[in-house]
Amino acid sequence: MSNEWNLAPAAESTSSAEIKERYELFINGEWQAPSDGNYFETISPASEESLAQVAAAGQKDVDRAFEAANAAFKPWSALPAAERGKYIYRIARMIQERSRELAVVESLDGGKPIRESRDIDVPLAAAHFFYYAGWADKLEYAFPQRDPKPLGVAAQIIPWNFPLLMAAWKIAPALACGNTVVLKPAETTPLTALKLAEIIKDAGLPPGVVNIITGAGETGAMMTAHKIPKKLAFTGSTDVGKMIYKAALQGNKKVTLELGGKAANIIFDDAPIEAAVEGIINGIYFNQGHVCCAGSRLFVQESVYDQVLMKLKRRMDQLVVGDPLDKNTDIGAINSKSQLQTIEEYLEVGRAEGSEIYQPECELPEIGYWCRPTLFTNVAQSNRIAQEEIFGPVLAIQTFRTIEEVIDKANNTPYGLSAGVWTDKGSKIFQLTKAMKAGVVWANTFNKFDPTSPFGGYKESGFGREGGIHGLSAYLDF
Ligand code: ADP
Repeated sequence: MSNEWNLAPAAESTSSAEIKERYELFINGEWQAPSDGNYFETISPASEESLAQVAAAGQKDVDRAFEAANAAFKPWSALPAAERGKYIYRIARMIQERSRELAVVESLDGGKPIRESRDIDVPLAAAHFFYYAGWADKLEYAFPQRDPKPLGVAAQIIPWNFPLLMAAWKIAPALACGNTVVLKPAETTPLTALKLAEIIKDAGLPPGVVNIITGAGETGAMMTAHKIPKKLAFTGSTDVGKMIYKAALQGNKKVTLELGGKAANIIFDDAPIEAAVEGIINGIYFNQGHVCCAGSRLFVQESVYDQVLMKLKRRMDQLVVGDPLDKNTDIGAINSKSQLQTIEEYLEVGRAEGSEIYQPECELPEIGYWCRPTLFTNVAQSNRIAQEEIFGPVLAIQTFRTIEEVIDKANNTPYGLSAGVWTDKGSKIFQLTKAMKAGVVWANTFNKFDPTSPFGGYKESGFGREGGIHGLSAYLDF
């Protein structure tokens, strides 16, 4: 390993994480077996070992889940709003109480470093429930003179990159507004959503208010085609998002879509370079680059390009790739075999397009799915690695001379989810953030999330906002 620190292993204990052999569907406050008797395996991408059997919901199960949510809607929405807030607050506290267990299970099932699941995913999931618990009885202050009303049942489908956090983003505002939900986690990372179902049951939430069903894309398609939900909320790939948009139009449902991205991270020559290099690392290598708002296109002003590249490579050499449960690990396992194949195909594409690849020489474990942190230089605007979302630890670097040039280059993408700018000058920040077609623009930082601030995209990155007051309006009728 090229890591010069020679860190001794510091493995987090798995003793807090009780994983059952088999998980059923959480419908109407009960664990119910799938009617077709089908189960699938969820594995650890770091060890390729099976962690549990998980129910695959078929049409009858999807029907049962929506009927339960529908029956629960009237009494739940009629509860005094402060009572709803108390339930949501209780869920938040129970996530905190079980935070170690949730972090370990998240890292086992999804491959992300324990430092991230412990310090980012789980605390932010709790923070979302706390935040929206506070809004439950204040909706008329959030939307004065607009008479906000809940929509009804929401169908919510989430991806595998932030499983518990995405469940929190979806469930907390929906409940605060008086809706009931059927949520499906991704098939490679169902375990923390099922742990959340345990918490919801223990919190005494009325049966049917939250239903959590598991399965692959077919189950998701059954959910979006279903008659009962009034609202579809989806986070995932742009291709699936387009199908869901169609289903929403056909079924006359409200919809929010949070899809892919290819964010520009822009470094001006007056930026604090050391901090910017940390921001580049965090922007693209956080969560193995499985981040829709990842800073995957780096634009460096020509006069500091050599300096930035040298420092960036040196910093990459220090990144620790390996066991997600080791507290020293910076880059864990790639989430699935198929995602690893996708990333490897893009590495080939980048080479074939004539870009130059750099990867540190770190050793990778023999078992499991791994990818070294990667950067490409000599990249052209039209190259596929500069245009398409890779969803892995792969950075494409380009240079620029003027602010006008970088704005043009940065906006030359079908996506528009996020962007970053590093400079000493406030005026440049304002000029750039106004011109960027991106839902979120970070200045002198990157990948910062907070329940109070809205998040969402433009163009092929989707529409609708999650987080903040905007996140409430997505679950209300006016
Ligand atoms: P990725 O391609 O990165 O795996 P997806 O967009 O396929 O991401 O997955 C995100 C979520 O969408 C997962 O929960 C997945 O099961 C679900 N999904 C996949 N296909 C469909 C579909 N046709 N309709 C509804 N949900 C789907």
